[in-house]
Amino acid sequence: MAQAATEHPQEPEPDPEPLDPRTAPVPRYGSASLSDLLPAVVAAQGLSPAGEEQVPHTRLRLEPADRVCVFLVDGLGWEVLRAHPEEAPFLTSLLDTSLGGTGTALTSGFPSTTATSLASVGTGLPPGMHGLPGYTALDPDTGRLMNQLRWQPWTEPHAWQPYPTVFQLADAAGITASQVSAPHFEHTPLTRVALSGGTFYGVLSAEERMDRAAARLAAADRALVYTYYAELDGHGHRYGVDSDAWRGQLMYVDRLAQRLAEQLPPRSALYVTADHGMVDVPLTDRARFDVDEDWELSAGLAQLGGEGRMRHLYVVPGAARDVASVWREVLAEHAWVATREEAVALGWFGPRIDDRVRARIGDVVVAMSGDAAVVATEREPKESALIGMHGSATPAEQLIPLLEVRT
Ligand SMILES: [Zn+2]
Repeated sequence: MAQAATEHPQEPEPDPEPLDPRTAPVPRYGSASLSDLLPAVVAAQGLSPAGEEQVPHTRLRLEPADRVCVFLVDGLGWEVLRAHPEEAPFLTSLLDTSLGGTGTALTSGFPSTTATSLASVGTGLPPGMHGLPGYTALDPDTGRLMNQLRWQPWTEPHAWQPYPTVFQLADAAGITASQVSAPHFEHTPLTRVALSGGTFYGVLSAEERMDRAAARLAAADRALVYTYYAELDGHGHRYGVDSDAWRGQLMYVDRLAQRLAEQLPPRSALYVTADHGMVDVPLTDRARFDVDEDWELSAGLAQLGGEGRMRHLYVVPGAARDVASVWREVLAEHAWVATREEAVALGWFGPRIDDRVRARIGDVVVAMSGDAAVVATEREPKESALIGMHGSATPAEQLIPLLEVRT
């Protein structure tokens, strides 16, 4: 057979077609996205917007409740939760309609990454308005990349994100707002621009965080409480979303949620949700495109933003179309590649882009499909070694649970 193949060589495999950016899934901004959650929560608490600073409008409807707790689990994607019912019996029971569960999925928003999503949660606005468009993004005033999680280099927080948080609006309207999180988050710029309003309670132990969240709910007739757990995401990054370490974390998260649910005071609702899901990126050259090793991908590139699964490409003047077409050819079926204008017009960052936000978005925006990533082994050695990654528009990253417990 081998000889026959040399005599009659087969047609070479056609090159895979580049993906059309118009086929990328777009977050369900305005109706079922993470930015809709708190506006829907406070509407269900009876908050009627007054004055100039109004709660953002949403079409998401939630049942009325006087006391609401949002428990955000970093990295708890809808698909990985559905795939692990044995590790998460309590959370899974909230999905099961035969047990009275009403669990559904929201989209995280684009990109599906923590800094962006926490700002979407807290402000109730899509990324195109709150303006935290990724893990790292260009500060157009300085020409430097800014890490949106660590806020480096330091940038004036309220110039970067000027909108009030829903916590601030709720607290001003008589709903007692609290955040219960790890103590080191209390004074970070990200907390200031995304999650401030009311009172911050720094609690080191995750179990005690659940207890404190329940106590804060009980402390007022109308209360809005936010609490957060980080380590599921960290284990997914380091070991992968199907590792034993990750599964152990999921079991722990399940017990935390149950502990909080069992302490809810009357007239309460608990929503368990997340900031994004995750995919495991194989440790192969096929799945890991390295900008620092590939002259085609680095040509015309001035700054590389985002992260492995989602890239902002800031290019030398006039090079956007050429860079987009080269990346489209090289990444082929592994990515949706759009110019800034295309990404904005397609609504990836939301229906509206504020002027101050536009130039923070890459001249070219790259959203990975499948399980591939664009790493940068010299620029980003630590991030490039991660197994679990997120940031793109695929269901594994975009879909997050909205699980509900009511008393
Ligand atoms: Zn993460």
